[in-house]
Amino acid sequence: VDQFDVAILGAGSAAEAVWSGLHGRAVAAVEMARVGGECPYLACMPSKAMLRSAQVRALLAQAPAFGALPEHAAGDDPRAAYAAARERRDRIAEGRDDSEAARSLRDRGVTLLRGRGRVVRPGVLRVDDGAHATEIGCRDLVVATGSEPVTPPVPGIEAVPTWTSDDALAGAELPRSLAILGGGPVGCELAQVFAAFGSRVVVVEAADRLLSREEPEASAGMRSLLEASGVEVRVGAAVAEARVAGPSEEGAVLLLESGAIVEAERVLVATGRRARVAGMGLETLGLEGLDAGAGASLEVDERCRVRGAEHVWAAGDVTGVAPFTHTATYQGGIVARNLMGEDAVADYRALPRAVYTHPPLAAAGLTVAQAREQGLSVETARFDLAETARAITEGAGDAEGGCLVLVADRREGVLVGVTALGPHADEWLGEAALAIRARVPVAVAAEVVHPFPSFSEAYGPPLRELARRLAR
Ligand SMILES: Cc1cc2nc3c(=O)[nH]c(=O)nc-3n(C[C@H](O)[C@H](O)[C@H](O)COP(=O)(O)OP(=O)(O)OC[C@H]3O[C@@H](n4cnc5c(N)ncnc54)[C@H](O)[C@@H]3O)c2cc1C
Repeated sequence: VDQFDVAILGAGSAAEAVWSGLHGRAVAAVEMARVGGECPYLACMPSKAMLRSAQVRALLAQAPAFGALPEHAAGDDPRAAYAAARERRDRIAEGRDDSEAARSLRDRGVTLLRGRGRVVRPGVLRVDDGAHATEIGCRDLVVATGSEPVTPPVPGIEAVPTWTSDDALAGAELPRSLAILGGGPVGCELAQVFAAFGSRVVVVEAADRLLSREEPEASAGMRSLLEASGVEVRVGAAVAEARVAGPSEEGAVLLLESGAIVEAERVLVATGRRARVAGMGLETLGLEGLDAGAGASLEVDERCRVRGAEHVWAAGDVTGVAPFTHTATYQGGIVARNLMGEDAVADYRALPRAVYTHPPLAAAGLTVAQAREQGLSVETARFDLAETARAITEGAGDAEGGCLVLVADRREGVLVGVTALGPHADEWLGEAALAIRARVPVAVAAEVVHPFPSFSEAYGPPLRELARRLAR
């Protein structure tokens, strides 16, 4: 039995950050699908590639209004455009071929074992590739197995033509009509993509607003921008039943609890993901309740050590902390530093969240409601991005104008949350994320000078307002 210092179960974004931070250790990575995980091939990269194509299409449609072209270009063919965008998407997703990633992993001296990994007992993993099973030993185990999509328990859903986001982002089909179940980040992003290429898209969300954990202003802004992109948005719309449509059974009919009906050629299920914890022998480590599935994640402490187990660590979606590649990378780095003998502690106070629609929504830290729930003495200030000079020169219309919401802790005099919906918000959010993370006094943040005319100027008025109120 080959013996390793560290074995990593899964070789996605979290795992990569672990092995990149381990020096002079014998490391094995076990992967049953692709080295690199979801992000490069099926999630972040192909979705962002398609969003960019969608955004360029939307801009081209506005070319005459911007004085960029005298009139609308003739001869748009959305299907041909979609085929070209798909080719670009697949190039960016490296053709879903992980051989380059596997080579670079081996170049780093990491042993790659392909197959499904399972813990046999503490310190022993069995890897099964379908043909052979191998056992390896390890001192430390890092669980970095990611997450998988959840299908809601809607009667009849298994009979209708559904997609997961993987199917939507790896397949060739452009449906004439698409019903998206779930108005979270993935649902909103893919709604804008498919609408841009001419699909008739309806988002069906059971909660009373899109992105229900974000600020209400952001939900409202997202709704208007999707509607401006031609998407129909139905909120407070729980699906009671799904049925196949018509004698040729080519589509789906969703019966809503309200009695309304939504028909579509395809149903994209984007109702969330759950940590991948079942069926990998984690119970042999004394971790209970994981095979029950349903929402269980691998609970970690602030050092990313799995609670209740010795020499077991976890990073990424499997921890249930925040399902983003940057969380996976951050936690993977924390695990590696601890394995290298440092005492590294994770701090999630300013972890960013982003939805890459055009324009994007970005947020970090607490929403107003979360800050109140935590018992903070909350001060908030808001700003309408349409009031910046940049919104005028950019021609960012009402739907793109967007908003900025700042949340401060009155006792400490620091920012604890930020939400921004507007052009490039994912980029200029960094300033507020730094202020939250570094606990910069609001009075100091309010003195920062921004370039004119930039969207970041939006920080000035609400920060000064907060500084005045906090000084009282
Ligand atoms: C459509 C979509 C778009 C997204 N866009 C973004 C974005 O723009 N920005 C962002 O930050 N995040 C985005 N995300 C989230 C992001 O993809 C995930 O947070 C990230 O990939 C998690 O990384 P991970 O390492 O935890 O898991 P993964 O990348 O999924 O890696 C886990 C790996 O473990 C392997 N594995 C699991 N079990 C076993 C086993 N028993 N044996 C062997 N191998 C196993 C899997 O095959 C997989 O390769 C998006 C997600 C989706 C679905």
